Amino acid sequence: MSKKQFKSESKRLLNMMINSIYTNSDIFLRELISNASDALDKRYYMALTNNAAIDRSTLKITLTPNKENRTLTITDNGIGMDEKELESNLGTIAKSGSEDFKKQVEANTSDVDIIGQFGVGFYSAFIVADTITVLSHKEGCDTYQWKSEGADGYTIEKMDEAPIGTTITLHLKADTDEMNYSHYLEEYEIKSLVSKYSDYVRYPIQMECEVSKPKGEPKEGETPEYETVKEMQTLNSMVPLWKKDKSDITTEQYNEFYKDKFMDWQDPFKIYHYSVEGNVSYTALLYIPSQVPYNFYNSDYQGSLQLYCKGVYIMDCAKDLLPDHFRFVKGLVDSDDLNLNISRELLQQDYQVKQLKTSLEKKIKRYLEDMLKNEREDYEKFWDNFGLTIKYGVYANYGAAKETLQDLLLFKSTNNDGYTTLKEYVDRMKEDQKEIYYACGPTIAAIKALPQMEKILEKGYEVLYFMDDVDEFAIMMMHNYAEKDFKSVNKGNLDLDSEEEKKAREELAHANKGLLEKMSEALKDKVKEVRLSDRLKSHPVCLVAEDGVSLEMEKVLNAGPVKNNVKATTVLEINPNHDLFKTLQKIFDSAPDQINDYADVLYDQARLIDGLTIEDPVSYTNKITELMIKANQ
Ligand code: ADP
Repeated sequence: MSKKQFKSESKRLLNMMINSIYTNSDIFLRELISNASDALDKRYYMALTNNAAIDRSTLKITLTPNKENRTLTITDNGIGMDEKELESNLGTIAKSGSEDFKKQVEANTSDVDIIGQFGVGFYSAFIVADTITVLSHKEGCDTYQWKSEGADGYTIEKMDEAPIGTTITLHLKADTDEMNYSHYLEEYEIKSLVSKYSDYVRYPIQMECEVSKPKGEPKEGETPEYETVKEMQTLNSMVPLWKKDKSDITTEQYNEFYKDKFMDWQDPFKIYHYSVEGNVSYTALLYIPSQVPYNFYNSDYQGSLQLYCKGVYIMDCAKDLLPDHFRFVKGLVDSDDLNLNISRELLQQDYQVKQLKTSLEKKIKRYLEDMLKNEREDYEKFWDNFGLTIKYGVYANYGAAKETLQDLLLFKSTNNDGYTTLKEYVDRMKEDQKEIYYACGPTIAAIKALPQMEKILEKGYEVLYFMDDVDEFAIMMMHNYAEKDFKSVNKGNLDLDSEEEKKAREELAHANKGLLEKMSEALKDKVKEVRLSDRLKSHPVCLVAEDGVSLEMEKVLNAGPVKNNVKATTVLEINPNHDLFKTLQKIFDSAPDQINDYADVLYDQARLIDGLTIEDPVSYTNKITELMIKANQ
C-alpha cells in the first residue's frame, strides 16, 4: 500500500491546520456532523429518486468517545464513499471550492483567516487530531479505509465489508499547555458542542451516555439505590432552526446556523425569517452577508439558496429561485407544497417554483425598502457592498426589472456628496428644473473638477455622480424617473440659458461663423462641429457628446478585450466668455491658417479633461511647444 501525496495547496492548508491553535477549534465537530448529515440526506434523496424508499428513522449519526484510545468516532449510515471518492474528496482540499480558493490558500500566510473564511470542512479535524481514519462503504462498492497522519500524505486500503456509511475516527493530539484536547472526549463537552452547533441537524446525533437510574424496583419505604448505566441518548432536538418559533431563537443561533451553512466566517448583516401562506406556502430564512463574498462579482458565482421540502434538503438552487439582482441573499426556503423528487430540469418549469421565486423577490424587495426607510445607515452600508448588483439588475434584460429596482437605487450627488434616492432628488428639484442631471467620472473630485459642472451648479441644480461603469447604461434602460428625463452634463444641449442669453449667443455665433466653420473644418474627422457653449463658466473648452452614446459609454464599451469600436458623436464647445475666445478671434483675423493648430490643441485638451486618451501625444506636445515659442517671439 503506497502513500499518496496531498495536492500541493491542500498540503499547505493542512500544515496550517496541524500547526495552528485555531481560536475556535470546536468547529471540527460541527463540520464532521454537517458532512455526515449531508451524507444522510444524499442517501435518503437517492433512495427516493430510485424509488427505493428508505426508512428515514433508521438514518443517524453516532458519536463514540474512547478515553483509553484517545479517539473520538463519528459514524453515519449515509451515502458513503467508494475508493475514487475517498481519493478525490479527501485527497484534495476544498474540492467543492473554486480555483480562487486555491489561489488564496497559496498566497495567504495568516492561518486563522483562511480557516475561518472558507469553512474547510473535513480538514478542520486536523486542528484537534494527529491521525484520522475514514472507513467508508458505499452501496454496491467495496469498503475502503482512508488514513492520514497529516501533511505527508494518506493511504487508501481495501477492508472487510463494513455497514453502509462512513466512520471517521479522530486520534486526538496530545494535550499541551495551551490546549486541552482531551476535553473533546468528555460527555458534557460533546453534549454542549452538539447543542450549540448542531442542534437543528434533522437526524438524531446519538451517544452512549452515563445515566443514573434506580437499581431494581424500590421496596416500599426504602430509598431507592441508584446505579450508573450507559444509555443511548439523542443529543439534538432535530427541529430545523427555521421551523422553530422565532421567539425561541436567539441571534447567536441564527448567526451560528448561517456561518455553518453558508460558508461565511462573519455574522450576517441582516436576518429575515418569515412564513407565507398562499398559493404556495413556505418558510424562508434569508440572510444578507456583511461582506461581499470573495468571488461575488465573478461570473461563476453560484450563490446559495437551499431548497427544502417538508424539512428535507432538496438542492441548492439560488440561480433558479433568486433573480440575479438579489443573488447576494443567502439562506433557505422550505415548502410543503413542492414535489420531493423534483429534478433540476423540472425545477425551472415548475409552476409552484415560479410562484416561489416571485414571492421571494417581492419579499426581499420589501425588506430592502424597509431598511432604506427605517435604517438608512444600514442601507447605505448594504449599498456599498451590493448596490452594484442592483444597478446591473436595472440594466439587465433591457430594463425588465427597472420598476422593481428603481426605488432601491442610491447615487451620491452634489447634495453634500452623500447618497440620495431618485425620489429624494426629484423632491428637491428646483421649480424651473426639468431634468435629472448627472455627470460621469471616476471620483467625486474628478467630477467636481469637470468644466461642465460649474455653470449648472451655479444655477443651483443638483447633479448625480455616476462613478460606476454601469450607471449610465442603467439609467439609459430606465429612460426616465417620475417622468423626468435623465440628462448628462456633457451630452446634447443643456438648455441652461434664458431666452435673451440664448439669443445673444446665437448672434455671437453668427458673427463668428467664419471662425467656427474654420475650426469645424480643421477637426472634421474628429467632431461633428465646433460651437459656442452654454455650459462653461471659467473653462475655455469642453467636449460633449450628442444624445446617444456618451463619451463615458465609449470608454466602457471599448475597455474590454473585445474592441467594440463604438464612437460617441462629439462636439467641441468653446466658452464665448473666455479670453481664449478673444484670442481665437484675433488669430482668425490676422493669421487664419494658425487656427488649425489651435483647434487641434484645444480638442486634445478637451479629451484630456474628460479622462480620454489623445491620439497623437507627440504632435500635441510639439504644437504646444511651438505655440509657447511663438507667444514669446
Ligand atoms: P465540503 O463539505 O465543503 O464539500 P469537506 O472537506 O468537508 O468539504 O468534504 C469533502 C467531501 O467529502 C464532501 O463534499 C463529501 O462529498 C465527502 N464527505 C465528507 N464527509 C463525508 C461523509 N461522512 N460521508 C460521505 N461523504 C463525505
